[in-house]
Amino acid sequence: MKRNSLRSRVTTFYLGMLAIALVVFSAAVYVGAKTFLTRSLEQKLRNNAHAIISDYLVPLEHKGEPWLVEEMTESYPPGYSDPFVRVSLGTRILYQSGDMHDPFVSMSKVPLPSNQRWFNAFHRETAASGQRIVLYTVPFHGTNGSVIFVETGASVEPIRRVLRSLLLIMLLATPIILVVAAVGGYLLMSQPLKPVVVLTERAERVGRKELGERLPVIPSGDELERLSLALNRMIERLEQALAHNHRFSADASHELRTPLTIIRGELESLIQVPSLPNSVMECIGSALEESTRMAKIVHSLMTISRLDCGEEKIEHAPVNLVDVVNVTLDHMGLLAEEKHISLRFYPGSATFVMGDAMRLKQIVVNLVDNAIKYTQDGGEVSVVVTTEGEKAILRVTDTGIGIPAGALPLVFDRFYRADQARSRESGGTGLGLSIVKAICTVHGGAVFAESVEGKGATFWIELPLLRLDTRVETNVDPMLETARRPVPGR
Ligand code: ADP
Repeated sequence: MKRNSLRSRVTTFYLGMLAIALVVFSAAVYVGAKTFLTRSLEQKLRNNAHAIISDYLVPLEHKGEPWLVEEMTESYPPGYSDPFVRVSLGTRILYQSGDMHDPFVSMSKVPLPSNQRWFNAFHRETAASGQRIVLYTVPFHGTNGSVIFVETGASVEPIRRVLRSLLLIMLLATPIILVVAAVGGYLLMSQPLKPVVVLTERAERVGRKELGERLPVIPSGDELERLSLALNRMIERLEQALAHNHRFSADASHELRTPLTIIRGELESLIQVPSLPNSVMECIGSALEESTRMAKIVHSLMTISRLDCGEEKIEHAPVNLVDVVNVTLDHMGLLAEEKHISLRFYPGSATFVMGDAMRLKQIVVNLVDNAIKYTQDGGEVSVVVTTEGEKAILRVTDTGIGIPAGALPLVFDRFYRADQARSRESGGTGLGLSIVKAICTVHGGAVFAESVEGKGATFWIELPLLRLDTRVETNVDPMLETARRPVPGR
């Protein structure tokens, strides 16, 4: 049972309520049973005492004591003790039924009535054997002025026994009821919560790649139907806002390209003018540099936006990643050599994916370019192409400056740069990884990163493997077998 699931919370709540209800109910039953049994016993003692008075004491003066003893012996024989009866005159006992037997109570040790407060009332005694008994005493005033006491009594042990059994049943039954209710309730809750589980699973999928999916609407007419409808409307609004955003970025970058080209053209012709003073030449040179940089940003932004809104034309043909990496690294070798970085490639067997060779090449360029950019002179950059299950994997690892843990989840965001100055100095725009992510997404894949600051970084992409009639082997560089936690491109 998950501690924080709605199902377990509802079950816990209802179990708590059931437990309280059971305790209150049990207490009520216990008190009710105790009151009922005690009242019944007292009623019986009272009736017996008054019956003795009316049947035997009222006619006593005419009939005499032997008659009383004879009659009472018949009605309440000495072996009879339910109830116990005693008729006494002062300290003289006229008649007394026998000791109680179940449980045994020796009644001869029970004191004669002496306390006025006991008259016409119930009082309790503890017998010599430790048994609790209840006695009812009624004084009978004869016409000759004598006072005869009639006592009826009984042990309270049978009532206690019944109450003890009742308590035991309650103590045993309560946890059993609670366990059965918990299991039953938990299982029953799964049915009404099924739509919530379906909604959650579908909601998890919405937005992974794009917002195209909608949540299922269960026509139950209840809150869940209204919730799924409201969420679908929200997704639609988000989709529109996002599409608008992508379109705006694509249009804006497209519109900026022409004026930028014109500015650069003008600056390039201006810089040819021979008579310009040096300071002006420097300004024009710097403006040219910045406009080139700006053109690069605009171009990258347009690529990302068009990829995001599906406007960029993408080839769909089998591409061998090993070939793509081989060709790309041939071109980038010089860049690594300049920094005395050893650039190594560990190719596996031919690894095919379905996609656009030029775009995939762009991924390799961006990742390797970053690896070289952010690795100190004399460092090492390695590229591996491998497979895992149904995935083709391209991994670029470097021994460079690495990325701080806090920055790692942000590196795929547009314009994010962990170190602004270093990135700008090395011609970075903060868009390289965003392009990688956008290309991976249109190829049905994803990009991930892991790093230990100061020790290097690993970026890898996972694409759906295209199984041709090629035997695919894995070739894993031991250098990459680290236990660092990967951060996927969001
Ligand atoms: P940039 O053009 O600034 O390199 P990217 O989108 O390619 O932009 O990368 C974003 C940020 O991620 C970089 O500014 C850098 O801080 C970090 N980064 C990318 N690759 C690496 C790497 N191999 N080693 C260290 N940091 C990296």
